[in-house]
Amino acid sequence: MAKSKMIYFFGDGKAEGNAKMKELLGGKGANLAEMTSIGVPVPPGFTISTEVCHAFYENNREYPEGYEQELKKHLTALEKLMGKKLGDSKDPLLVSVRSGAAASMPGMMDTILNLGLNDQAVVGLAEKTGNSRFAWDAYRRFIQMFSNVAMGMKGGVFETILEKAKDRKGIELDTDLDSNDLQKIVEEYKKAYKAHMKSDFPQDPLDQLQKSIDAVFGSWMNDRAIHYRRLNNITGLLGTAVNVQSMVFGNFGDDSGTGVCFSRDPSTGKKIFYGEYLMNAQGEDVVAGIRTPETLSSLKKKHSRIYKELEDLKDKLEAHYRDMQDIEFTIEKHKLYMLQTRNGKRTAKAAVKIAVDMVTEGLISEKEAVLRVEPDQLDQLLHPSLDPSAPKNVVAKGLPASPGAAGGEVVFSADEAEEAARIGLKVILVRVETSPEDIHGMHAAQGILTARGGMTSHAAVVARGMGKCCVAGCGDIKVDYKAQQFTARNGVVVKKGDVITLDGSTGEVMLGSVPTVQPEMTGDFGRLMEWVDKFRRLKVRTNADTPQDSAVARQFGAEGIGLCRTEHMFFEAERIMAVREMILAEDLEGRKRALSKILPMQKGDFLGLFREMKGLPVTIRLLDPPLHEFLPHTDKEIEDLARVMNVQAATLKNKVEFLHEFNPMLGHRGCRLGITFPEIYDMQVHAIMEAACQLIKEEGYEIVPEIMIPLVGEVKELAILRSNAIRVADEVISRYRVDVQYLIGTMIELPRAALTADEIAREAEFFSFGTNDLTQTTYGLSRDDAGKFLPYYVEREIYPNDPFVALDQGGVGQLVKMGCEKGRQTRPEIKLGICGEHGGEPSSVIFCHQAGLDYVSCSPYRVPIARLAAAHAALLEEQGR
Ligand code: PEP
Ligand code: MG
Repeated sequence: MAKSKMIYFFGDGKAEGNAKMKELLGGKGANLAEMTSIGVPVPPGFTISTEVCHAFYENNREYPEGYEQELKKHLTALEKLMGKKLGDSKDPLLVSVRSGAAASMPGMMDTILNLGLNDQAVVGLAEKTGNSRFAWDAYRRFIQMFSNVAMGMKGGVFETILEKAKDRKGIELDTDLDSNDLQKIVEEYKKAYKAHMKSDFPQDPLDQLQKSIDAVFGSWMNDRAIHYRRLNNITGLLGTAVNVQSMVFGNFGDDSGTGVCFSRDPSTGKKIFYGEYLMNAQGEDVVAGIRTPETLSSLKKKHSRIYKELEDLKDKLEAHYRDMQDIEFTIEKHKLYMLQTRNGKRTAKAAVKIAVDMVTEGLISEKEAVLRVEPDQLDQLLHPSLDPSAPKNVVAKGLPASPGAAGGEVVFSADEAEEAARIGLKVILVRVETSPEDIHGMHAAQGILTARGGMTSHAAVVARGMGKCCVAGCGDIKVDYKAQQFTARNGVVVKKGDVITLDGSTGEVMLGSVPTVQPEMTGDFGRLMEWVDKFRRLKVRTNADTPQDSAVARQFGAEGIGLCRTEHMFFEAERIMAVREMILAEDLEGRKRALSKILPMQKGDFLGLFREMKGLPVTIRLLDPPLHEFLPHTDKEIEDLARVMNVQAATLKNKVEFLHEFNPMLGHRGCRLGITFPEIYDMQVHAIMEAACQLIKEEGYEIVPEIMIPLVGEVKELAILRSNAIRVADEVISRYRVDVQYLIGTMIELPRAALTADEIAREAEFFSFGTNDLTQTTYGLSRDDAGKFLPYYVEREIYPNDPFVALDQGGVGQLVKMGCEKGRQTRPEIKLGICGEHGGEPSSVIFCHQAGLDYVSCSPYRVPIARLAAAHAALLEEQGR
């Protein structure tokens, strides 16, 4: 360390650093250097590198050897260039000391302005500038900032002195204090400093400078900064850099000012120059919000020459960085300086528009445009969202389970939701948790709120599939079905019929109706997605069970169905009786009788799906959930069914109790049903193949159905079920006398399936990784209950993310990779996909690309996100990243 360069100079059109050196100089330092060398007016200064920060912490807060000499050398160079000296009693140089890491951490670390003033220098500054008020104001600001930031004194001490001085004079604004007032305030500030610090306010500018640098480096490890890095996943940085820069003053008088601007509108992306400024102010005054800043159009009117200069510099910076810039500027006595530029943060809408416009303008390539839009950001574009300007009264917060915003009257049952929707009411369905029996109510409702359940709970998965807003696992509310109300933690009671609004993107529950704005699928969006499709390798399918959902997914660009969960089809009102009859039948004959009632309906379902998908691949999964989910629960339901089935209610009740499981997720579900009740799967295969044969024969479709067997853990399970399926399929094919290809595959959703994937591949033409169950069983973590404590785990960083949202690449991902490798060992041409919820989460999609999957499958509204993430994966790979 001692040998390498520690400090980098910039000024007078030359710089030792450049924009590529962000890791070493921080974003601010690298861009100050870059702006200097491209001829943008930047006050000269130097940047102490992040390596020094790293060494400082490695070495018990000691600076590396040679640092002090290098600092002095650079300070001398700066003084020479500026023709002024720090602390000089005639014409003092003043500097700012600012932090700046490679990743932007706004407001998290320390800044000190006006450094270099002391009792002599303030007099020199007053004389030199001919502005004594300005000089004393700068000194009082410096004492305050230095004492707060570098010496850790509480700000309140100084605020009180300032307020008292204003009260004494009967004024409200700081700007009404004159030079004499400020001089007195400085005296009081210094007294307060001495009383607290037990020493005089430091008069040696070098001492001031070093203490300020110590403070900025020290702020890298303050709680705020650590917390911010954790929240924003900022890791792997050496530390912060420190920028020491000669001051320019926006508070010189009415010919000076300071402001912030964006080269395009950060909320709409429109190519308009956007920003605000304050005359006679320093940066902190703009942030403090005491005076209302003016817009750039007023700058144009009042100071047209400066405005023109600013506009030209903005164009120059945008063209140079080839991205929308967020710029800080200061005007000192009619002269314009740039203090910072960086790529500006923007909304999803603006990100898409700016990326597409910049391609049209020839500024960036299509590939760059695709990489400029974050996949997760797209979510904002695909659903209605709350009007950001509307007031809201948040009464509870749950998991942001399915994005979008919706409002309506509260109802507590699916039937009520359906009833209300029929007469045109908008409702929010509130349940402790939902089950497949609630699907019709979920469809009818505008949004769903549940008190229990995680991000892959039934409510969350189904709502995402429907593109409906859902707040799940909202432990802040207590639902009382009997009283037809829920109580929020703060005591607010919401009764049936009261209106609430949900924000599925934040998890917020609000009282009353908050207006929403509809998404716009603009032409820009479509253009960007065309490029996305050109660059990606991974295919994107959808998880859809109905023709309606499939149609939505097709509009979003789905290239097939990767998972049709057939159990949802069993719950429809006319079928549930037949399903219950089938489950409760005493013997095989009884079951078959009931199944024969369901067969034509299932066939109708598949006809609908195949027609909608027009020859694209469709994977249909055979029945998965435990049988008891379909059974009647209340005494009345049991009695009704007993009457239909012509059996005793008590007998039925016994049977229902017999089927109860303590741990249904690990129980009699998936292929275990197919093994013990083969006639159920036979009926489903029958229906799939009849639908396919009919469409091929009579309507000329090209269909290759993919039949998927769930929850396989042992190859023999699959061998048995596969041979059953082939028998039924071939029987249908020969009856229709058509040539139909079909595939039989399985889900890999148990660790044992991944571990023995080479054996399983003997019986499977495709694998689809069911990462919901694979996560559940790898972690031993219930999908439905973990929502209660997972947030705590994530907050404490025990888990980096909710593993049901972002695939756990170190654990579950290893099983996926193993499954792929072993599967391909046995069957090189095996088709590989994923249909767990992770198939629509960007970091997981990138993982799937790297693992070599053929496709991901996700809920319809996430299809564009998965497409964009897949393109990112391919482009990042191309760039060797
Ligand atoms: C899975 O387990 O990942 C899966 C897709 O199946 P389900 O969510 O229906 O259990
Ligand atoms: Mg599963």
